[in-house]
Amino acid sequence: MSLKSRRALVTGSTSGIGLAIAKALAAQGSDVVINGFGDAAGIETSRAGLEAEFGVRAIYDGADMSKPDEIAAMIKHAEDALGGLDILVNNAGIQFVSPVEDFPIDKWNQILAINLSSAFHAIRAAVPGMKARKWGRIVNTASAHSLVASPYKSAYVAAKHGVAGLTKTVALELATHGVTANCVSPGYVWTPLVENQIPDTMKTRGLTREEVINNVMLVAQPTKQFVTVEQVASLVVYLCSDAASQITGANLSMDGGWTAA
Ligand code: NAD
Repeated sequence: MSLKSRRALVTGSTSGIGLAIAKALAAQGSDVVINGFGDAAGIETSRAGLEAEFGVRAIYDGADMSKPDEIAAMIKHAEDALGGLDILVNNAGIQFVSPVEDFPIDKWNQILAINLSSAFHAIRAAVPGMKARKWGRIVNTASAHSLVASPYKSAYVAAKHGVAGLTKTVALELATHGVTANCVSPGYVWTPLVENQIPDTMKTRGLTREEVINNVMLVAQPTKQFVTVEQVASLVVYLCSDAASQITGANLSMDGGWTAA
């Protein structure tokens, strides 16, 4: 499953699932662009670590995924620095939980921008190069929430359903160009995004930390276990391989059986 000489960009890869995807792609020999927020020294440690551990080129672009101009500039930066972009993983995402009638309007707009529109802007900018080279892989990190809903997550669920629809449309448009577009849909993965929503959920539902973990999060996951970031990253690597050239427009669940129920 070598991805040697491929050039990849993973949005939201300074933490959690995105960082694991960047590592897994680098481990297969792909050069990588990492992106996301965080403390500069920590990001540089991750970037330099990818180069040292896997012998690939790794660069960082701090584009804000809520800003279309910065997204387009980041794709150009990646193409100029690495000589092209073969793999685009749209992974950046945020969460906010609130009853719909109290949902702050700025949070709605921010979630739609970062979790959905950023994928459109990145795909729009990256597709011409992929088409010209007749090879490309677009993988969007959707969620079980691209298939089913949970209360208090109106913006997130709307954005993730949108990601699934965008993925299918792009797959059809690119089907004869050697470019696939798929999404991966994890259930609950133990990352900062999940950990950070515990306090809000405790407050909104009047539960303890343990009750949120066991009765809200893992209640939906028949295996009663969190997905790991490495498991999600392995699926992304597979989708980027030549073995997966006939998988396009798919929404692949990795949710411990959640959406089978
Ligand atoms: P995380 O909080 O660990 O990582 C999110 C990443 O996105 C970070 O690198 C952060 O800096 C970056 N980011 C946030 N806002 C940004 C912005 N405006 N511009 C650029 N980067 C920005 O979260 P995670 O759990 O690893 O989530 C990654 C993706 O996986 C998200 O799309 C999320 O919706 C999805 N997902 C997560 C889970 C889960 O249980 N953790 C489940 C299903 C789907």
